[in-house]
Order: sequence, then structure tokens, then C-alpha cells
Amino acid sequence: MINPEAYALGSCRSEIRELYECGLRMKAELGAENVFDYSIGNPTTDPPEEFTSAALRILRDTPPAELHGYTSAPGCAELRAALSDYINRRYGEETVPGNFYVTVGASAALTVAIGAVCTTGEEVVVIAPFFPEYRVFIENAGGRVVVAPTREPEFQPDIEALAAAISPRCAAVIINSPNNPSGAVYTEESLRALTSLLRRKSYEYGKTIYLISDEPYRELVYDGATVPYVPSLYDDTIVCYSYSKSLSLPGERIGYVMVSPRTRGCDAICDAVAGAARRAGYVCAPSFMQKVLTETLGIYSDISVYDENRRVLLEALTSYGYTVTPPHGAFYLFVKSPEPDAHAFSERAKKHGLLLVPSDSFGVPGYVRLAYCKRTEEVLRSLPKFRELMESYK
Ligand code: PLP
Repeated sequence: MINPEAYALGSCRSEIRELYECGLRMKAELGAENVFDYSIGNPTTDPPEEFTSAALRILRDTPPAELHGYTSAPGCAELRAALSDYINRRYGEETVPGNFYVTVGASAALTVAIGAVCTTGEEVVVIAPFFPEYRVFIENAGGRVVVAPTREPEFQPDIEALAAAISPRCAAVIINSPNNPSGAVYTEESLRALTSLLRRKSYEYGKTIYLISDEPYRELVYDGATVPYVPSLYDDTIVCYSYSKSLSLPGERIGYVMVSPRTRGCDAICDAVAGAARRAGYVCAPSFMQKVLTETLGIYSDISVYDENRRVLLEALTSYGYTVTPPHGAFYLFVKSPEPDAHAFSERAKKHGLLLVPSDSFGVPGYVRLAYCKRTEEVLRSLPKFRELMESYK
């Protein structure tokens, strides 16, 4: 018999993937130059030169059995030591290699972190707008998703709404800053309010409520924005990190889970992370990538092209009459739909060759998401289409 839940997940693609596939069909029909695909967050900047040259050298000089062999399940000792050293230097932290579990990107890191702290029937609170796959990861752990709204148009956490969403069954709260899809960077003030709420709720319910901080966009910030180091604000934090965007290599699948050294029962949580990874079959991330990262930690892709795209789009779209909150991080623009139904707007945008993701699956109605990780030349060519699209509403 086919597992019905697995079938349901596999047979209906995510809305973003669906739109991306539609873009491929449209490009074949209309010509690639007439379709502007803002659907998927695939980085267009190159990985840094240091990364590529380290990769080539390691590929050439490492004996194959070592290069391609299994590493330890949580990652090779050298990378975990390098990660611990890097985080300690960057944030004045006190981790040891045992705090890290190397994963195939943030998706696996989240699956493992949620699986480690959520038991069947418990709740995990997500803050809208949120990455739609959280729902899949939480339900996979037997958990129930509870959505807390944010304050629009800044998309900072709404502490009162969050307080109402955290029940005695809450196992964890997931935050994602810089945020996909809004581009919001949660301020230190917001995070201080959020973490003191978590401390109050943990005390009130006599249990630990974990904070899972999903950080694939940590290095992608603009206008001098800073991303606070979450474990310094809340002891029971588990960080899920990915190099997909910060090194422009989403297809290489590499990231990690870091359990804060101050988490209550830290060693047991690290064991549970290892167990959740084992249960999911996520043991031993790609060995080659682990070796390259060990030598290149702290080097990131140049994101000036994203900053330029952000500036160009914000200025143009605002002048055409769109409502957009300036994003300070990630590479997404969250644009208010000129009509209440974002799906209808996205369908109309397709007729102008624009692929924009309706916001409903992110937990907020009435917006579309643009992934502006594109070549600036393409962004500039798409501007008349955005103008035509808005004019079609007048
Ligand atoms: N979390 C967020 C907020 C994301 O936007 C993504 C990918 O786009 C992921 C997690 C998954 O990242 P990875 O490619 O590292 O699995």
C-alpha cells in the first residue's frame, strides 16, 4: 500500500516549484527572453574565488578514499572543530565541536532540530510569513503547526499574538531572520521581547520551550542592518544554518545544526539531534563539501548585485504604484497585491511574462514574493512589464 501522506506530499508540488515549472513551459513557448522568473531563490552570484580554488585543490590533492569516503555521522572532526572555533571567535561564544551536527542544508537541519525537540502531538509555533516547508518538517515530527501573525507592513514579530499562540503544548518556536519571504530583519528589540516572552512561558508551563533559529540568509543584509546572535539572547536556542545562499551553492547541500552550549540538557539535545538525523537518514553530509568548508569558513559570496537589484526594483515598483516595504535582508521583495486575491494577481502577472509567487502558502494573504537573485540586466528588462501590469488595474 502507498503511504497516503507521502503520496499527498509527493504528488502535489510546492507552489514555488509549480510556478518555476510553469516558467520553463512558458520560456519554451514564448522565448526565454520574454519570461521573467521571480519564483525560485536560486542564487546567481558566484561562490567566492577562495571557495572555488580550495575546491579544485582538494579535489586534485586528496586521495579518493579520503575525499569520497563516509565521514562521522555528525560531520568530520576537522569541520566541526573549525565551526566551533569560527563561531567562538565571531560571537565570543563557548561552543565545542560536539555542539555541531553537519547537515545537507537548512532543510535537513530543520528536520533534525524539530525532530529532536518535538514529540507527537506537541505544537511548533511559526511566525507568518514563513517558509512553507516548515509545515512539512513539523508534521513529519508528529507536531502540529500553530501560526502567529506579524505586524504589517514591517513584518516584525507581534509579541501579543505570539503570546496567544504559545500554549502548554508548545515545544518550540521557529524564527527566520532575515526572512523569506518578507526580507525583514528582526531587530534586537523584537528579539529581546520575543525571548523574554519565551522565558516567561517556559516558566509558566514548567517546561523548556526551544527557539529554533533558521538562518540561511544571515550573511545577506543591506543598509548596514545587523542580525543579532540569537543564542546570546536565549539559552535554549538551536541554530539551523545553511551555505546555500551565503556561498551560492544550494545544490551542494551543506549546512549545520548548532545547539547552544547553554541549552538545558545540552548533551542530551545533541544526542537527540543525532538520533533525529539517524531516523531521517541524514547521516554524513557530503564529504567533499565538508573538506572545502573546513578551509573557507568566514568567506562569503559578494552580494552587491542583490543590493543593486533590490534598489532598482524598490524604486521602480514604488513609482508605478505598488506598495512594498523595503527589505533589509535575504533576496526577496514582498509586494502588496493590487487586488485582494494574490493568486488572481499572480495569474494576471503571468500574462505579462512575470512569475510572482502568491503569498498564501507563506501564511499571509494578499502579497506576492519576488526572488530578485537575478542578473540586473534581466531585472531592468522586466520593469516595463511591472508597469504594464499595474496599468492594467487602472
Ligand atoms: N529556510 C528558509 C527560510 C529558506 O528560504 C530555505 C531555502 O530557500 C531553507 C530553509 C532551505 O535551505 P537549504 O537549501 O539549505 O535546504
